[in-house]
Amino acid sequence: MTTMTYELPKLPYAYNALEPHIDALTMEIHYSKHHATYVAKLNEAIQSASYAAPADVNILISDLSKVPESIRTTVRNNGGGHANHSFFWTLLSPKGGGAPQGELAIAIEKTFGDFTKFQEKFTQAALGRFGSGWAWLQLKADKSIAITSTANQDSPLMQGFVDQVGKPIMGIDVWEHAYYLKHQNRRPEYVKAFWNVIDWSQANKNYLATLR
Ligand code: MN
Repeated sequence: MTTMTYELPKLPYAYNALEPHIDALTMEIHYSKHHATYVAKLNEAIQSASYAAPADVNILISDLSKVPESIRTTVRNNGGGHANHSFFWTLLSPKGGGAPQGELAIAIEKTFGDFTKFQEKFTQAALGRFGSGWAWLQLKADKSIAITSTANQDSPLMQGFVDQVGKPIMGIDVWEHAYYLKHQNRRPEYVKAFWNVIDWSQANKNYLATLR
């Protein structure tokens, strides 16, 4: 039986495009080693169980109860890793930084008071995640937005209902592999640098897509 083969998406910019905020070597290893390994291990698991997985990895991880139990943890970790990194690369841009845009800017002001207060809270979530994981801005069931954090490669999508609830708008990878080469253990420096490369235009597109 032929099973789904997930593919590493093309990085939308060169490894050095986010310098000096995110260095080229970190980008190269993060993408070509870490992300590529999540994809390879995910495919290996899907094939080992001959599981007829959905083509969209976001759909796959949004309902892990459908995944055979023998590979569920592997799919959670590596499918989550594939989905999270595919999402993350599109959120970064050499032309990023500045302030939120469009409808998302309005929602952030309404929810958090202003952009600075949002940045403080998001930074707290990123720094407060013990060990490896992610901080997110995501949509909630009532269509409001919230700052959350997940461990390991868990995604807000794992709360289910991929088209409605728990959809990420923006997020930051706070695994040490995302910053250790340049910043060693100094996660706050990396989070500070992130604000210079976050693509608010893409985040706004994600927000509008979550509302649909
Ligand atoms: Mn990562």
